[in-house]
Amino acid sequence: MALKVYNVLSRTKQDFIPLNPGIVNMYACGITVSGDAHIGHAYQSVVFDVITRYLRYLGYNVKYVRNYTDVDDKIIANAARAGENPIEFAEKYMAQTDAEMDALGNAHPTIMARATHCIDDIINFVQKLIDSGHAYVSEFGDVYFKLDSFPAYGKLSHIQVDKNDTGVRKETEPGKKNDLDFALWKSAKPGEIAWKSPWGMGRPGWHIECSAMNLKYLGEQIDIHGGGRDLVFPHHENEIAQTESLTGKPFAKYWIHCGLVKINGQKMSKSLGNGILLKDALAKYDADTIRFSLLRNTYSADIDITDSLMPESGRHIYKMYSTLAAVLGGDFANVDAAKTDAKIDEIKNEFERAMNDNFNTLEVIAAAFGWFNFINTEISRKKTEYDLKRIANKIVELFGVLNILQQNPNEYVENKKTELLQRENISVTDIEKYIAERATAKQNRDWATADAVRAKLLEHGIVLQDTPNGTKWDINL
Ligand SMILES: [Zn+2]
Repeated sequence: MALKVYNVLSRTKQDFIPLNPGIVNMYACGITVSGDAHIGHAYQSVVFDVITRYLRYLGYNVKYVRNYTDVDDKIIANAARAGENPIEFAEKYMAQTDAEMDALGNAHPTIMARATHCIDDIINFVQKLIDSGHAYVSEFGDVYFKLDSFPAYGKLSHIQVDKNDTGVRKETEPGKKNDLDFALWKSAKPGEIAWKSPWGMGRPGWHIECSAMNLKYLGEQIDIHGGGRDLVFPHHENEIAQTESLTGKPFAKYWIHCGLVKINGQKMSKSLGNGILLKDALAKYDADTIRFSLLRNTYSADIDITDSLMPESGRHIYKMYSTLAAVLGGDFANVDAAKTDAKIDEIKNEFERAMNDNFNTLEVIAAAFGWFNFINTEISRKKTEYDLKRIANKIVELFGVLNILQQNPNEYVENKKTELLQRENISVTDIEKYIAERATAKQNRDWATADAVRAKLLEHGIVLQDTPNGTKWDINL
């Protein structure tokens, strides 16, 4: 079983063979910090976090670079509106986004790069493109990439620029020789934040920032370049043109793009006002629930965040933790070690088969429902032949790659119960009183009262289960 990844460049699923054995250099385009991070940012960052974790699970030494675009038109405009310095404005949102990504359970990338910390590298890069005839300086001090100097342009997006099928509005800017040439360096407007360059005061274009950071932190050639699907054209196409014009070598071996986020079937957009901010999602749901929602999907497909998605995920997570908690309290002495080993192997193989198939976390979660059903069935038997503790530990270990189910199961279950009881303003003593009342009613064959008590508790989100050891209660999320 070897890892296969869908390479957008070749449009095929390919065996994953890094440039240097055992080492993976990966770059994923990060966030332009012009405001609060939204659920789309969360999706992309969770996808590449899980890819990193799985590559490490396979034993690769992964260097993962992400960037913050901390200067651009939108940041400058939004900072001006807020009456703030654009650098401080960007820093405020970077700190906020970092904290939210931590709360979401993403591991820190090896390097978090920032555009404004790489200005010299960007200037050097642009100068080399000018020197080699791939870029030119306009009379206004802007620098443009000369599109017709790179004949392979369009190889990632399969867009043929000479046929005008770019789907983008042609920008006519004074000083541009060709409408499709794109800016590497933008001259400063009066009063705008700017850096000194050989072409006058200005700031970098967006595309060149990623090419320069890749070169600086990972070198001329990298294994994986990632981002959202909306970045394929023109951003990634332009990165290829810049980097390959400079180095003469193929830039990224595998291009991986995640799908876009929809909200209740509609495109997430400002004009529709249907966006979900990450901080709002985190205020309502725990990281396990959000990650489960985002990963119950094949990463390359669009994801539809319906109103019921997160609540439903929350119920699954609660049930999974409840099962793990039940296993922790069980006694599995005198079980069949060989049978247990075989079951663990089966689970591990199912997990690896799914993840090796282009990081198919949807398949992992589908398989996991089967694993938990198996455990629940075995728990309900008088005597199981399996060491369910070892099996549960393996599942938790594998779920570490998704960074889900890593909390103490007893604490998780207790916390959820406490949350519900507080919200419903009902105590455990109250519940026990109700259960006793129902037991008495049942003894007196007063079924109406017994049913009424059960219904009353259900209104509070509490379900009763009659077992040979008496009536138990649980929360019904
Ligand atoms: Zn980028």
